Formats: sequence, C-alpha cells, structure tokens
Amino acid sequence: MASDSSIISQSNEFLWVEQGQQSEGLIAEVAPILSTDKTYHFNVPEPMVEGIEIGQRVLVQTGKRGREVEGFIVALDLKLWDSTLRSIEKCVDEKTFLSEKLIALGNQISRHYSCAWGLALKAMLPEAVRKESGLRSVRYANMVASMEEIESQQDRLSPKRRAILETLQLSQEPILVEALLEKVGAGASVLTALVKCGWVSIETRKELPEPDDAIIEQTNPDFKLNADQQAACERIEKMAQGNEFGVMLLHGVSGSGKTEVYIHAIRRALARGQQAILLVPEIVLTTQLVSRLLHRLPDVALFHSGLTGSQRSIMWRRVASGDKKVVIGTRSAVFAPCPNLGIICVDEEQEPSYKNLQTPRFHVRDVAIMRANLHKIPIVLGSATPSLETFYNAHSRPEYHLQVLPSRVMSLSLPKIHLIDMRDEWAECKQPVLLSRSMHRLLGETLGRKQQAMMLLNRRGFASRVFCPACKSRITCPSCQVGMVVHVASKQCRCHYCNLRTPIPKICTNLSCRQPLQQVGFGTQRLEDDVRGFFPDAKIARVDSDTMTHRSEYERIVKQFQDREIDILIGTQMIAKGLDFPHVSFVGVVDADPLGYATDFRMNERLFQLVTQVAGRAGRAEGNAQVVVQTTVPELPSMRAALTHDYETFAQNELTVRERASLPPFSRLARLILSHPREEVAKQETDVVVGRIQDVLAKLSMSGANVLGPNACAMARIRNLYRYEIIIRTANASDLRRLMAMLREKKCLFSKAKSLVVDVDPVSFS
Ligand code: ADP
Ligand code: ZN
Repeated sequence: MASDSSIISQSNEFLWVEQGQQSEGLIAEVAPILSTDKTYHFNVPEPMVEGIEIGQRVLVQTGKRGREVEGFIVALDLKLWDSTLRSIEKCVDEKTFLSEKLIALGNQISRHYSCAWGLALKAMLPEAVRKESGLRSVRYANMVASMEEIESQQDRLSPKRRAILETLQLSQEPILVEALLEKVGAGASVLTALVKCGWVSIETRKELPEPDDAIIEQTNPDFKLNADQQAACERIEKMAQGNEFGVMLLHGVSGSGKTEVYIHAIRRALARGQQAILLVPEIVLTTQLVSRLLHRLPDVALFHSGLTGSQRSIMWRRVASGDKKVVIGTRSAVFAPCPNLGIICVDEEQEPSYKNLQTPRFHVRDVAIMRANLHKIPIVLGSATPSLETFYNAHSRPEYHLQVLPSRVMSLSLPKIHLIDMRDEWAECKQPVLLSRSMHRLLGETLGRKQQAMMLLNRRGFASRVFCPACKSRITCPSCQVGMVVHVASKQCRCHYCNLRTPIPKICTNLSCRQPLQQVGFGTQRLEDDVRGFFPDAKIARVDSDTMTHRSEYERIVKQFQDREIDILIGTQMIAKGLDFPHVSFVGVVDADPLGYATDFRMNERLFQLVTQVAGRAGRAEGNAQVVVQTTVPELPSMRAALTHDYETFAQNELTVRERASLPPFSRLARLILSHPREEVAKQETDVVVGRIQDVLAKLSMSGANVLGPNACAMARIRNLYRYEIIIRTANASDLRRLMAMLREKKCLFSKAKSLVVDVDPVSFS
C-alpha cells in the first residue's frame, strides 16, 4: 500500500492515513437512504470538489463489505482527519434539489417520527423532480476549435460551414441549434459534419417548457377587514417584520373570514418579496376555495395528488426559481422548495388527512410548524374546531397566539341544530326508518321555499350490513374480518378495506343456521332512493367515491349545485368540507353514530368536528338555517356541545377527560403495529418487542412513560395479515424522541413479524 497519504486514491478505494498522521480535505457527511440512524463521512475526491453541494444525492459504500448505497450529503466541511476514509463513488444528481433548511427539516422529521434521515429526505423530494420529468432537452452548439486551426484546413470549409463557424465565433455563448441553423439557412447535416471535424460540440441542456398558464383575472371584493381580522393580520405582520417564529391559531366558525386573513397575510409576504405556502386538506374537496384563491393571489402553483410527474416536476422548479410565489397544496406542498419563504398557512388544521400514511408518518401541520421555526417566520393555523392539541398549545405555549373570529361575517346567525334520537323514532315507526319525521318535514319545507339541502351519510353502498336475524352473525370479509357492504347496483358485497367483491348471499353463511339474511344500516345509495321516493319532483345528486371516479365529475356536480340545478345534494363526508353554497338552508346528518372510530380516544372530538362542520354548510348567505342530526347516542357530551356550537365547553370537558386519562395533549403516543399471516406469530413477536421496550424503560428514569400491549388492533386483520399493536406513552415530545432514539439504538424495534410499523403521534387507531 502506498505510504504517501497525500495522494488522493481512486474513488472506489479507501483513503489511507498512516497512524498519527493527519490530512486535510473536503469531507462530506452523508445520510444514506437506508433504515439507519447513522450518517457516514466520506472524502470528496479532487475532481468532484468544485461542483459538490449540500443536499446532492451521491453513491457511496458503507459497512465492512462496502455495500453501495445512495445517500444525501447533509454537511460539507474542510477538515483534518486522521483515520481511514472512503471516497464518494459518484454524484447521482448533478446538483442539489434540497436547500439547507429542507435538509435540516428532514433531520427534525427523522428525529420526531423515528425514521432514518435519508429516508425522510427521500420522501420530501418527488421522484419526478429528480428524474427531471417534463423538462425539454434543448441542444446548444459551441465552437471548440480555434479559427486558426480551422483556416489551416481551408479545403474542408464550404460557405455554409464557414457561416456557422463565424456566427459561433462572434457569440460569447453557445447558440440554440435551431436558431443557429435558421439564421445561417443551413440544414442539420452541415452542423453534424462540423461536429465530426471536431470543430463544434453539441451540448444538451434540460430546460423548463414555456409556461402556458392561463391568465387569471384578479378580483377584489369591496369590503374592509373587520376588527378581529385586522388584529390577526397585524399580529402576523409584527412577527414577520421581526423575523420571528410564531404560531397563530385563527379560531373561527366557517364563514367568519379566516380565508380572508390568509389572503391578506400572504399578500403582505409577497409585497416583501417573499413566498408563501397555503396547505389545504384535500384539493379535490376544496375546488371552490382554490378557484377563489386563484382570483385573489398572483403566481400560484397548485400541488396536489392529481398532478402527473411532469407537471409536478415543472411546478416544483418554478417554485424553486421564485417564478411561482404562492404554493397551494395538500401534504407534499409543505416541502415546496421556496427559496424565500415568508409565511405558511394551514387551513382546517385539525384534519386527520394531514397525517401521512407512509413512512415517515408525519403530520403536515406539525411539519409546517417545524419549517416555520427553521425559517423564523409566522405560521397561521385556521380552524372552526381546532384539534385539542392545538387548542391546548394556544393556551399554554409562549410562541402561540390565539385569535378568535367570534362571529360570522355580517352577523349571520348560525343554524339551529336538532338532535333526533333514532331509537325513539324506530320504536314509534315500528321499523328502522332512514329518515326521521323531523328530517322529512324540514326537507319538505326547504324544497317548498325553493332552497337547497344537503344530506350526509358516512357510508357507501346501498345497505351497509347484511346480517342474520336468527344467529346474529353478519357477512364479513374472509381476509379482513370486517362487515361487507352491499352494493345493490352491482349486485355485490364489497370489502372496503381490501376491495374483495362477492355476490350478495341470500341465506346465512353460518352452516348451522342457514336462515334468510336481512339488510340493516343504510348507505348513500339507499338514501338517494328513499329521498327520491318522498320527493319525486326534486332534483337530486349523489357524491361519494362510488359515483365520483374523476375530479371533473365532482367539479361538475359542485358547479350544478352552485347554479341551483340540483335541489338536494347527498353525499359522504366529502360534501361536509370546505364547500360554500349560499342557498343551502337545510343540512341533514342521517347517521351520526361514531361507527368507524369508536375505539379511538378522539371519538368525541371527531363527532364534534363532524357535526360542526356539517352545520357550517347551512345558511352561509341568508341565516335561519336548520340542521338535523340523527343518532342513537344523543347522550354523548360532544353531541350536546355541538348542538349549541359551543366549542369552549366541549374543549374544556374533553381536556379534563384527557388529562385524567393522560392522553394527548397531556402525553405523547407512539403506536407500533406488527403484522403476520399467523396470528400466534403476530402476537408472540409483539410480546417480544414489548419485553424489550419494558427493559429499556426500566433502566431509564422517565416519569410518565409506559408501554401497553400486545393488543389486537381494532382492524384485527387486513389483507390476510393479523395485526397487533403496542402503545408507547411518554409525558412529552422530547421524552418520546429520546425514548424512540434509544429503542432504535438498542435495536429493540426489529422483529420476525412480516412488518413493524412505527407511528409517532398516531391519528388513526384502526
Ligand atoms: P372562512 O374561511 O372562515 O370560512 P371566509 O374568509 O371564506 O371565511 O369568509 C366568508 C365569506 O365572507 C366570504 O364570502 C368572504 O368573502 C366574506 N368576507 C370575509 N371577510 C369579510 C369582511 N371583513 N367583510 C365582508 N365580507 C367578508
Ligand atoms: Zn377484505
């Protein structure tokens, strides 16, 4: 082995340093795209030194066997080193796509959500961006020989060749091939010949296509912000001016003017030359909001799940170049590469869909807060029914500011909510009817006044369950063990978890029973049929994921409803969110029982949110609206509080319950799910992991920390895998971070189970 350590080795070899000797050079710290918490240091070989950047993706070798992996450069330093270092093999990307702030954000995500830094960075960067999807290849011609050299070979110079060379010589920069040929009036073959002579080189560059944005007319409503809106804007402005991180909770019922505050705050940021990100729950569900924003804000980039790879990649670059100033989007928009971010707004911050369902299982609102903190900018969280975590933070943390927008703009009254106990209704009607008499009457009155109605039922299909009155068993999915839903139109039973489809059985599948089956519970389709039967002249449309396979269909129905071509809009929760129809004066919640989430400690919170949200759809322009909520559990306190739109009472009661039970926001949770095709294995393996966690906890003195499990998950089996869960609880977030890091370091989180999922701050407990 060469003893001269100053010689930089070939890139695939180690860089040797003799004992006691030191060397200096550029060292890159790399976070590999692997499930590891380590970062590795590599020497940057001389030829790479000039172009290398933090955030760049590189190929390196790790471990004793020198396994090749890709990773992100997370730090670059000129350093002395005295141990053997490997060199970077090669750069995978020519330049970086991630700013240092985004790299730091990736680090925080990895620590908070207990996943590898490299994996977090990978999740932040759309694959289409790295692959340069949507960019055009553009060819440029460049002169590479000197004129003297060329003149010495006069015989090879035709007039056209000469003209090309002279044009290139006069130009300081490479010239676009098409433009060059057109200018000289030559064909491509002339240029090819010059390339063959070695006089001209052709360089291919990737460029953004010309933007084809439709020009959207900017409109401005002629009203002044009210005093509360004004106060919110001033507070935000003050933070922005002082380069200060701060979270504003904008708590106001729907129609109280939160969106106007976002618009004003974003415009102020634009006026300072900064960019803005506005996060919305699911863009498909908020087309109305988006079209309104497009008319109020310039240079908007929309990020949503419906974009093609090319569209995403182009949009991303236009944000990175500063050409697009405002990013509006769902989850991924929180990672938009804004070079000069000035504000983040999160609409409907309580939305469960903000939680990412793959590793890293981050919550967009919380990542947005981390990002605002890194950039030292304000962040605005808007909601009519803030999550209890945010509400609690707003009352207990110094960096939070609470701004209430106490009433609907123009003092419209909130709708009157009637709670109907369906058990009484069924007893009196002597059968399980779908519409209560109040619902029926109010719906009729609404149609009579030529106003519009919305009806909400959170289940798909015609009848939601098939069951046997004799033995009480129901048809369940053989691989998921949840009740199957009957779709009458397609004459099928479907499992909504694994999409299994079977014919509708007529008799009980329990061999010892074999009695005729009965359908109970109702889906949106049955509701539509019933309502049609009662009101044959009404124009009715149904919105759910069975009828809406395309965003355009959804948009068409929204437009028709807006134009009052539809009288009654029936739907699942899709219609409860964010839509603003001024002529809706009745909303019916057909079944507000907490079916799907009864096992979740946030059940009451969800119920309150649902009822409030639905009620918010009624009477947005005219007031005096009515809402009917049908349920079999009217005694739940959250139902009672929702009746009077009393968020404070609901929140105080619920916080008391949570505090007593040490549930979030009074603790932090992590949920681990292990699954395996054999139930015993799933359970045993979960038991083993619980044991390891208990051992670690026993050695730590961490008050308020404990571990629960193994327990079968509420969804005990999905796609033929049995699922067991472990719940880890700590007193606060930093304890949880510390504990999870320890569990990873001590290799407690591996298992023979088929999968082991770590979900920090879980939102779903199914
Ligand atoms: P939210 O986002 O809280 O639902 P919006 O910002 O959408 O509320 O406001 C509801 C309606 O009231 C919108 O049509 C908006 O244009 C209007 N509005 C908002 N602020 C004012 C104001 N200060 N004066 C008059 N109308 C307003
Ligand atoms: Zn299934």
